[in-house]
Amino acid sequence: MVAANVMIDLETLGNVPGSTILSIGAIGFGPDGFEPMRAIYLAINRKSCKDAGLIEDPETVAWWNDQSEEAKRALREADSIRTSLSVGRALNDFSKWLNKQFSNSLLLWGNGSFYDLGILEAARIKTGHYPIWPKHADRCYRTLKNLRKDIVFEPSGIKHDALDDAIAQAQHATKILNAIGGWE
Ligand SMILES: [Mg+2]
Repeated sequence: MVAANVMIDLETLGNVPGSTILSIGAIGFGPDGFEPMRAIYLAINRKSCKDAGLIEDPETVAWWNDQSEEAKRALREADSIRTSLSVGRALNDFSKWLNKQFSNSLLLWGNGSFYDLGILEAARIKTGHYPIWPKHADRCYRTLKNLRKDIVFEPSGIKHDALDDAIAQAQHATKILNAIGGWE
């Protein structure tokens, strides 16, 4: 049986573990493509990240100014407690979602071995949460896509929307894994 694959994308205010997270998007996928019924999007409160000791990188904050108004939804939502969850609550909800949706062996993909999963892990430690995913579940989509540069990434949805990015990446990863017979 194929393991349960989940593509994760974060929108953040920094590129290193310890950075503020604005949103988490994640989608299940397998040999038939992405699974719309297994999707989650969580908007995270910016102040709660600061209170937890997560940091904002001024260059990334400035970078957001140049992004589309639709993508900036993540920034707008993060500024209000009415539209975003505390980072601790979001990690809790994300963990529950992972446990509920994917009972068999789980593989979590991030774009870079260090970026999405590293930033999530640092936030988990700062907020005192237990590990969210099993050991050895981390997989690197950046490595995967560089193994097969002939299989082109096709953008879809809003660029820099965490869930849309996760879906576009999951579609791409599906094509590559099908081509190389790489499903675990
Ligand atoms: Mg993204």
